[in-house]
Amino acid sequence: MATIETVTGPIAAGQLGTTLIHEHLIARDEAVHTQWPDAGTFGGIPERAIEPGGEYDAAVEAAEAAVGFGIESIGDPTAMFLGRDVDFMRRVSEQTGLKVVACTGIYTYDHLPSFFASRDPDQIAELYVGDIERGIQGTEIKAGFIKCAADEPGITDNVDKLHRAAARASLRTGAPIMAHSRPASETGLKQVEIFESEGVDPSRVQIAHTGDTDDLDYIERLLDKGVYIGMDRYGLELYLPAAQRDPTVLALLERGYAERMFISADSCATLDWFPANVIEQLVAAGMAVDWDIRNVPEQVLPRLREAGMSAEHERTMMVGNPVRWLTGESL
Ligand SMILES: [Zn+2]
Repeated sequence: MATIETVTGPIAAGQLGTTLIHEHLIARDEAVHTQWPDAGTFGGIPERAIEPGGEYDAAVEAAEAAVGFGIESIGDPTAMFLGRDVDFMRRVSEQTGLKVVACTGIYTYDHLPSFFASRDPDQIAELYVGDIERGIQGTEIKAGFIKCAADEPGITDNVDKLHRAAARASLRTGAPIMAHSRPASETGLKQVEIFESEGVDPSRVQIAHTGDTDDLDYIERLLDKGVYIGMDRYGLELYLPAAQRDPTVLALLERGYAERMFISADSCATLDWFPANVIEQLVAAGMAVDWDIRNVPEQVLPRLREAGMSAEHERTMMVGNPVRWLTGESL
C-alpha cells in the first residue's frame, strides 16, 4: 500500500482516516513575526487575543477539538508566507494524536522576494523537491503536497512562475498540487491550463476554494478537466454563506462528483492578518461565522447528512479522496 508523509513520519495510506484536507494550525507572516515577535496575533475568528507565544496552545486546542469530533488527520497547507514551521506542527501532532500532512510551496497572490524574483521555475522547483524528498527546515519531515495560489491579481508573471515550479516539482516527485483559487474571477480554469501545459495529470490537482461560488456551470467546467475541488471555506460567509455552500455540495453529489470533492473550513487556529478592530467588524457584519476547525464535523456534515448526503458519499469525500489525491492510488 502507498504511504503518506506526515509530520510524525510516513504512514500507510489506510491510516490517514477521516481527514479535513485544508486547515491551518498557525497562519502568520513569518517575516513580520521574525522582525516583531511581540506584534500580536489573534485566535482566528472570532478574535481571541493570544499571548505572545500562545500560538502553540491555540493550535493544540484546535487539534484536540478536531480529534474530539473524530477527525484523524488534516492537510495543513501552511506554506511560505503563512509561517510554515514543521517542528511546531510535529509537536502539536505528537501531543494531540492528530495526524498532519505538511506542504511545500509559496503562498502569494503576486509579490515575491528578490530571492525568488530572480530565479526560474526549475530553480524554485528544486527547493520544493528537497522538501518532498529530503525533509523540511532541516528535519526529516517531508512535504506531502505542493501549494500555490492565484487570487484577485490573476495570473501575474510571478503567479505563473510559481504554478510552473509546482507543476515541475509534482512531475519529478509525484506529489499532488493544491492551488488556492478565486472563483469570482474563475482563476481555477487558468490555473489548470498552466498545469496541463506543463504535463501534470489533472487528477493530481486540487483547486482549493472552489466552494466560494455556487455557479455550477463554472464548477462543472472545472470538474470536466478532471481535477479535485475544495469546498473548503465553511465559515467564511463573506465569500459564500453556508446556506449557499450546502446546496452546491448537495447538487454536485447528486450529479455524481463525490469522488472529486473535499469538505473543509480553511480555519486558522491563530491568524495575524488583521488587527482586533477589523476582526470585530468582520464578525459583527456576519462575514465569518463559526470559522473554526470544529465547523465541518460539528455542523456541516450533520446538516449534509440530514439533507441527503449518504454515508458512502461522506466516506468518499472525507476518507477516500484525501488518500487518492495524496497518493494517486485508491484505498
Ligand atoms: Zn488555507
